[in-house]
Amino acid sequence: MNFNHLVERYDLMSDCVRGRHSYQPTGHVESMVGGNVAVRFRCKKCGKITTSILDSDTFYLHQNTLEKYITDKGLV
Ligand SMILES: [Zn+2]
Repeated sequence: MNFNHLVERYDLMSDCVRGRHSYQPTGHVESMVGGNVAVRFRCKKCGKITTSILDSDTFYLHQNTLEKYITDKGLV
């Protein structure tokens, strides 16, 4: 499963060990004042960490997919 579309362009462009980064949710999800949600991702190839700030509409659109991945991987 690919979550790169939820990661900032800047964090997609930086160098990876081979090819492009492949970001996966880490299980760290934090609600923010104002309704935004911070979701932490880690590249499964190089380990780079990035945090995406999603607005509430974007988060709720992807919430089920994120939670299913996090639960299935035993990250919680
Ligand atoms: Zn990487």
